[in-house]
Amino acid sequence: MCGIVGYIGRRDAYPIIIKGLQRLEYRGYDSAGIALYDGNDIKLSKTKGKVSDLKERLENEITTDGTLGIGHTRWATHGVPNDVNSHPHYSNSGDLVIIHNGIIENYDSLRKELINRGYTFKSDTDTEVLVNLIEDVKKNENVKLGKAVQIALNQVIGAYAIAVFDKNKPNEIVVARLGSPLAIGVGDDEFFIASDASPFIEFTKNAIYLEDEEMAIVRRGKTVKVRKIKNDDLVDPYIQELQLNLEQIEKGGYDHFMLKEIYEQPEAIQDTFRGRLLSNEAMVKLAGVEDNMKKFLAADRIIVVACGTSWHAGLVSEYIFEDLARIPVEVEYASEFRYRNPVITERDIIIAISQSGETADTLAAIKLAKSRGAFVFGVCNVVGSSIAREADAGAYTHAGPEIGVASTKAFTTQITVLTLMALRLARAKGTISSSEFRHHLIELETIPNKVEVALKSDAYVETIADIYKDATNFLYLGRGYNFPVALEGALKLKEISYIHAEGYPAAEMKHGPIALIDEQMPVVVIATKKGHYEKVVSNIQEIKSRKGKIIGIVTEGDVSVKELADHVIEVPETIECLTPLLTTIPLQLLSYHIAVMLDKNVDQPRNLAKSVTVE
Ligand code: GLU
Repeated sequence: MCGIVGYIGRRDAYPIIIKGLQRLEYRGYDSAGIALYDGNDIKLSKTKGKVSDLKERLENEITTDGTLGIGHTRWATHGVPNDVNSHPHYSNSGDLVIIHNGIIENYDSLRKELINRGYTFKSDTDTEVLVNLIEDVKKNENVKLGKAVQIALNQVIGAYAIAVFDKNKPNEIVVARLGSPLAIGVGDDEFFIASDASPFIEFTKNAIYLEDEEMAIVRRGKTVKVRKIKNDDLVDPYIQELQLNLEQIEKGGYDHFMLKEIYEQPEAIQDTFRGRLLSNEAMVKLAGVEDNMKKFLAADRIIVVACGTSWHAGLVSEYIFEDLARIPVEVEYASEFRYRNPVITERDIIIAISQSGETADTLAAIKLAKSRGAFVFGVCNVVGSSIAREADAGAYTHAGPEIGVASTKAFTTQITVLTLMALRLARAKGTISSSEFRHHLIELETIPNKVEVALKSDAYVETIADIYKDATNFLYLGRGYNFPVALEGALKLKEISYIHAEGYPAAEMKHGPIALIDEQMPVVVIATKKGHYEKVVSNIQEIKSRKGKIIGIVTEGDVSVKELADHVIEVPETIECLTPLLTTIPLQLLSYHIAVMLDKNVDQPRNLAKSVTVE
């Protein structure tokens, strides 16, 4: 988690870093700090709270001159969020200053060794241990900063993206990564360092993404030197041209990124299938699937590994793959899978789903699966991310940057990619007829327009939000394809409004949750025409008999649910396997409006971070 930014060049570093931190704040936001070299000394300011708090404090506290600096927005792992634990951290001498994203797992033993050697610590963080370890190596081995960082990192167990500089050598920043992302923007006589490219996109489109176990020394006016941390081998850095533009990472007139991203879904879904769904030719083209068709056709099963919302998209895909392509699917929480000694064979296909492509548990799960011979297919949004690189093949969702912490367009575009995969495999396996296949393609093509229609319920959803915003619990029910949607709807509400919510398969309700239902309990029931409609209507009857408040998500023109429910929100009709792409929309809007009415921070909900790069 956490965002790191750095600059070295000819411009003032401060405005670049502060704006960069604001753009990275989605990654962690419990505290923030900045260290600048002003030509004589390091000027450091840090505080618990948001980047805006830092900005306010800093401009009264220190001069903001200097053409070299580093900044950090934290998602605490070691030590509570407070001023002292915030980054950057000084070494004991005050010569070195560091920012760090990740966890140093053996920090405790390193800390004890350093204390024995006379070091003292102000904070509770693992990061302060690392900067002093670097200082200790530098002094004892009498080496330059780059070498000291390398030796120190070879003693470290854990994950990191770091940037560190020495006030006695203010012409270089040393950076390194293992398990947390780090990009270097390459400009004219200037370099930018960041967790992703958003802080430097208006300055340069050229970026080097460090690989795991690589470090780089970024020197003013020189070229970047990249090395392997383990064996010191020089690596030829690959400079990538970025496709991202500034507009994509700004709010564009919406009050929140989340709302903007909800409204971007028609376009995002279209972008996901552009060039891949060719309905005229009755074809689906996905290079990652095509190139590995033999493996897919020989597979005994698919194991989906993912976390959070991506796990819900994985659950939807279980229905699609089994239904259309007749391939058995297991959907696993990556964090459980990686520690469970799972049975994996060379005939298994692992599909790893992650918006950021940096989710630590998912990354570890695919490394485990690869080591046991499985073929790994990544479904990520962020191009060039760790999972995308680690996978044997994959398909990007092309949703554009998702900044709101609560995932919206990532979910629907993941489902879109997975549906395309299932359709392609179904065709190759002959488990779908050519007319059914074509029908599915034509229907999928209509989804962006139907999402537009579903978005028209926004004002009505807002009125429902107003009625139920003070409820303390919600139930979300769905069956079949819409069971994972119920889970996702409940997760959205929990994430941003902090209201407790549970998602259940509708029929499971009578095995427990029905005990919770009374006149205080809003129950959101997804009851679209296709997919066990009559069964769900019976479940609604059961809720009604116990006086629960029913919010139905129904197909346009529905009659039966309308008669029973307190409110119904309509979505357009489509084939069953595509209903999640529509039923999700009102649930996203409902959670959004409730959170706004409760005055919660929609884009940066408490305790959460967008890209979960710690396990
Ligand atoms: N482990 C470090 C800390 O707790 C860094 C956490 C982060 O990635 O923000 O301060």
